[in-house]
Amino acid sequence: MKIIVLLGAPGSGKGTIASRLARCDAVRHVSSGDLLRERVRHADTPASREAAEAMRKGALVDDHVVDELMLEHLQACAPGETLILDGYPRNERQAATLEEEAAIVGADITAAVWLEVPEPVLISRLAGRRVCSVCAANYHVENMPPRVEGICDRCGGKLYQREDDQPEKVDHRLHVYRDQTRALIDWYASRKLLVRIDSKKDADETAACVARAVLA
Ligand code: ADP
Repeated sequence: MKIIVLLGAPGSGKGTIASRLARCDAVRHVSSGDLLRERVRHADTPASREAAEAMRKGALVDDHVVDELMLEHLQACAPGETLILDGYPRNERQAATLEEEAAIVGADITAAVWLEVPEPVLISRLAGRRVCSVCAANYHVENMPPRVEGICDRCGGKLYQREDDQPEKVDHRLHVYRDQTRALIDWYASRKLLVRIDSKKDADETAACVARAVLA
């Protein structure tokens, strides 16, 4: 069982690249953001209300809530499978938890892929991002539009703009990234697991680069 961690700022393409890699056999995309959005939509508990509030503000959700959601997937992973983790870990404490849990279940963290994108590109990607309300597929109004405006190509679901993609929330998310998540680049570099990928190109080209680097 293998784990590949995707690192990168909001808008760096983690979800888009992970969903393309998951077209390969025995590769599974696990997105902490999608799992959290599903959880807050379906569970009305104090913890899920708190998570929803953090997400609305662009802050990080409590580590324990996210760890629990992600580790469930790790524990259910079949031998021979590769998990692509998108959005987790997001700080050093989560990275340490992942490392411990991977050792317990006998999974190898084989690479941490850093999707590098200049900040102006991130901002324009987030401003134009639209997401399917049913299957969570991502689009962009200019760079990756759906065939029919406002409708998901894959499942026919309605597309919407995430509340945290509003400009003031985006500023805060980028600040949180610089403050807490960026440190993971050094964390994984010191473990000789870091793979840097230029992610400002087209999604298919970037996904092919990542696949060559870490799935071969
Ligand atoms: P992006 O990477 O574009 O910010 P995500 O969908 O990965 O989008 O995350 C959306 C929000 O979900 C984050 O701003 C944060 O509130 C929450 N979240 C996702 N992953 C984590 C995590 N590992 N730890 C804490 N909060 C998280």
